[in-house]
Amino acid sequence: MDKRWCSEEKLAALREGDCFREWASLDDQRICVLCERKFCGRQVRITGRKGGRAQLHCPSENCAGTPREWVLPGNPFTSEKAWADWSLTFDTEDNTPGFRKPARLPFARAAS
Ligand SMILES: [Zn+2]
Repeated sequence: MDKRWCSEEKLAALREGDCFREWASLDDQRICVLCERKFCGRQVRITGRKGGRAQLHCPSENCAGTPREWVLPGNPFTSEKAWADWSLTFDTEDNTPGFRKPARLPFARAAS
């Protein structure tokens, strides 16, 4: 069963477990590029520690998304900041079991 986290603990765990992007608060939003779900810090699943770091997981069931696959909300075709953020995801190679690169841009529809 999931451990119950108080807000401060959870925010600290988000910051600790996500070395890619800043968490300003538990209301910060992210989009998981694997399942295209938008969620906020409160919804992130945290499972214990590995190597001293909190392990963060996408709130969607059966989704292998981790902070590496979470981007800031924004359209990468119209926002330079969002694009730079997306590039982070595409440029990384990962051999983690279950990791797959997104087959397409979730926002491609919105860009036309
Ligand atoms: Zn996900």
